[in-house]
Amino acid sequence: MNSTKRYLITAALPYANGLKHIGHLAGAYLPADIYVRYLRAQQREVLFVCGSDEHGTAIPIQAKKEGTTAQAIIDKYHPIIRQNFQDLLISFDIYHRTSAPIHHETASQFFKDLNDKGDLEVKESEQYYDEQAQTFLADRFIQGTCPNCGFPQAFGDQCEKCGTSLSPEQLINPVSTLSGHKPVKKATKHWYLPLDKHEAWLREWILGDHKDDWKGNVLGQCKSWLDGGLQPRAVTRDLDWGVKVPVEGAEGKVLYVWFDAPIGYISATKQYCKDHGMNADILWNDKDTKLVHFIGKDNIVFHCIIFPVMLKLHNNILPDNVPANEFVNLEGDKMSTSRNWKLEMQDYIDDFINKENGGPAMADVLRYYLTTILPENKDSEFTWKGFQDANNSELVAIFGNFVNRSFVLMHKLCNGKVPPLHATRLDAKDEQLIKDIEDAKIKIEQAIEHYKFREALFEVIDLARKGNRYMQEKEPWILAKSLESNPLNQQLIDNCLHLCLQLTANLAIFIHPFLPHTAKTLCHMMKVVDKMLEWKNGGRIKLLSVGYSLRAPELLFRKIEDSEIATQLDKLKAGARAAEEAKAKTAALLAGGKPDAAPEKADQDSPKAEIQFDDFAKIDLRVGTIKSAERIPKADKLLKLEVDMGSEVRTICSGIAAYFSPEAIIGKQVTVVANLAPRKMRGIVSNGMILMSEDQNGQLVFVNPDQAVPNGKTVN
Ligand SMILES: [Zn+2]
Repeated sequence: MNSTKRYLITAALPYANGLKHIGHLAGAYLPADIYVRYLRAQQREVLFVCGSDEHGTAIPIQAKKEGTTAQAIIDKYHPIIRQNFQDLLISFDIYHRTSAPIHHETASQFFKDLNDKGDLEVKESEQYYDEQAQTFLADRFIQGTCPNCGFPQAFGDQCEKCGTSLSPEQLINPVSTLSGHKPVKKATKHWYLPLDKHEAWLREWILGDHKDDWKGNVLGQCKSWLDGGLQPRAVTRDLDWGVKVPVEGAEGKVLYVWFDAPIGYISATKQYCKDHGMNADILWNDKDTKLVHFIGKDNIVFHCIIFPVMLKLHNNILPDNVPANEFVNLEGDKMSTSRNWKLEMQDYIDDFINKENGGPAMADVLRYYLTTILPENKDSEFTWKGFQDANNSELVAIFGNFVNRSFVLMHKLCNGKVPPLHATRLDAKDEQLIKDIEDAKIKIEQAIEHYKFREALFEVIDLARKGNRYMQEKEPWILAKSLESNPLNQQLIDNCLHLCLQLTANLAIFIHPFLPHTAKTLCHMMKVVDKMLEWKNGGRIKLLSVGYSLRAPELLFRKIEDSEIATQLDKLKAGARAAEEAKAKTAALLAGGKPDAAPEKADQDSPKAEIQFDDFAKIDLRVGTIKSAERIPKADKLLKLEVDMGSEVRTICSGIAAYFSPEAIIGKQVTVVANLAPRKMRGIVSNGMILMSEDQNGQLVFVNPDQAVPNGKTVN
């Protein structure tokens, strides 16, 4: 600890397949930022790296969903997420991305080094292969029935209904989501990291060396992994999106995303050092670098077991600590993207920060509330009422109120200047306040050094609370009333306000890692430069010089109204309802709702008049598979499809060209209105219509059976 020369702080690389919610923020980024800002205030050398994780199968899956390319997905989400972090005052030194060439080089070289040294094992195994799509299938591209709960749409790696981790082999009736066909087993070769060979030192290092300084939740998870016995883990996979495996005989293979993503910390460091004329090797190779990974609990095994094995084999330093957080729930339920039960960073920014009465002070408010509920040891809960209370009864009523009263009274009773301290007239209450300031510094320091950010922030607010109580007991406004008969009372007024102002300066220093904007506002009010915020200045009552004139107080925090909270609750519930309705709509369409492929009509959502069963029975709905798809010259909305209907192949023109690329839909099973009168479109006779719906984002989706059925089967 004493030999620490520099700090290398990482926060989990967010996956660039969608927006991130406040649970992510509270899990890794906010605690990391508090810690880093504290270290910087301590004048310690620190580098804070993060960036987008842009590989893995979820990116091409999201691309498919949005009818676009994987590159377009990462190019869409990377800048949004980076901006979100900036708006919430997360102060990365670099926010990099794993699609960058320097990352591909770094990850590739890392793999090569391990492979050349013989640290990896090559094994052949049988894996599911889609003969129609001519590709091996990543776990996520295989769906089938969960052996545990019977859910028919479980994925090859996990059942999202019951949460069980699965391997594709365990699925009953597996189907490729690429073609809708049953996949076959085919031999393929992969490289493995033999974790089993490293069990002994890992056990010693985690459960021995770190048994006292790592968090209980982290140690517990590691222990259960170790006790369960470690297995060799494949570090390559058959996929065309990611870092190409840089050895012969590995065509069509990329590095598994869990292998390449943490190397992203190293490549981000390299990029930063390149930009700043520094040597990245020192940071990752020198044992005097203290490496700390901030992550959520779902990443513990990667950062405590797998990545350390990689680092050790590569002669890099190991993490000093991995202070993983648990999860934040929202209004009594787990946050969920598919159920739309979440608060995205973007939503908060739109509704509170990018508003006339918003600004960075509202970023501080979210930071404050989230810090008070950080899931440091167990899951915690975000409620809008809790958010409002934290703001109104703590930030406004305690912190803001104390600062405001001190400034107002100083202007009123001390001519707007820092009054002198009359040492001979200090009493026990004054001495106690001075001691409280000194003690607070030590308590806050100790809590932050041990990654107890909730506790640290509590100490800051508690100090403000003590300030309020002190002023209430001293009642300088009462003393001011008897000044004529008792002029020496001015000394008591001076002492009270002198100490309150010194306390305000200390509060600026102590709140700074948590609420950086508020700290800067306080500096502005006190007419001091940001350098005053250096940690070593805290704990003392000599920060503001006597006779120094200060500005008028500014409003630090505004009150949050009941109506704002009600709006948010309505929005949350409406969002969840919309997600449910979208699901129901798709189901209803399958059962014979509106057949309509024209996107310009797709938003006519009002219910239609009731029909009799006979009317419905007139429609011949059948399942087919798209065999080919091509654009039609001069018709940018239409795709010409050849659909295999079992006994025949139909030509169908569909107005979906703006939503899907032709290559992306080949092999898809679709529902066709088979007895619709043929219609000539752009010179092509279209013989049928494809049923479509749209998801909650307004993206068109096919209405298809939840598992493959023979072409030509009727839908009824
Ligand atoms: Zn299940």
